[in-house]
Amino acid sequence: SVPAAITSGISAGTRRGLLIKGGAALEAIGTVKTVAFDKTGTLTAGKPRVTDVLGVGASENEVLRLAAAVEAGSSHPLAQAITKEAAKAKVTVPASQDAKAIAGKGVSASVEGRELFISSPQHAASTLNVAADLQNKLTALEEAGKTAVVLHSEGEVLGVLAIRDEPRADAREAIARLRGMGVNTVMLTGDNARTGRAIASGLGLEVQSELLPEDKLRLISEMKRQGGVAMVGDGINDAPALAQADVGIAMGGGTDVALETADAALLRERVGDVADLVQLSRDTMTNIK
Ligand code: ADP
Ligand code: MG
Repeated sequence: SVPAAITSGISAGTRRGLLIKGGAALEAIGTVKTVAFDKTGTLTAGKPRVTDVLGVGASENEVLRLAAAVEAGSSHPLAQAITKEAAKAKVTVPASQDAKAIAGKGVSASVEGRELFISSPQHAASTLNVAADLQNKLTALEEAGKTAVVLHSEGEVLGVLAIRDEPRADAREAIARLRGMGVNTVMLTGDNARTGRAIASGLGLEVQSELLPEDKLRLISEMKRQGGVAMVGDGINDAPALAQADVGIAMGGGTDVALETADAALLRERVGDVADLVQLSRDTMTNIK
């Protein structure tokens, strides 16, 4: 019977770490035309590491010390990379006050009586003058698939930090599998276009970069006009996008937000599990027909 086939499909998923919230979700997953992926923590491992520190208006040590202070109040993956690097370098991090996130653009905080900013290169360029040789260095870092951020204060650039988050080991193969199943794939990222392109071309999928949270929602609605859309995110800052898609898939089951908003959760955190989910849905529905 139909309910029995659905129930057994859901239990087969559960045994493989694919949690599916009900029959409607299981049925919908196999029919999606597009799978949109968040980058950080979804296609990448979400364990970004600082790879470069450049001193501009301050020494490298000073850049790391001040940046770690600004990021102390942020839970962004980039913030964790910077505070970890400061701890590794045994830098004494000063206290910070009034930390403020600037969604999709950066963060600011007051440190030692100064208001400091850490911004994306494009946000920095829109608020202060970035010299041509520094712009060239930022471009080179981004073409290497790194995320560069600019530490600045009172219109002066103090330094640059570059962070790299490695793609998950099975991501490239999983994208190819989805394509073989007739599913379009796209990466949606707030990161800059050069970094986005470097990562996406390595994985073999399309990319839309420099997106603010509201841009991701708009793109998902547009894609929904062409057919079913699944959105895969790590569930922390992706909850609105997961809810907007026809099928929201949380990478990992660690956060309550993920489990509340998503239609499915991938407990093993493998990109290939997205393809497995589509296959499981199609197999289940074939058994019913
Ligand atoms: P993604 O979609 O890739 O997860 P976000 O929208 O979270 O990216 O962030 C977009 C960009 O904003 C980052 O690449 C970075 O340049 C900047 N940014 C956001 N938050 C921070 C932060 N805490 N520290 C430094 N840069 C940040
Ligand atoms: Mg993100």
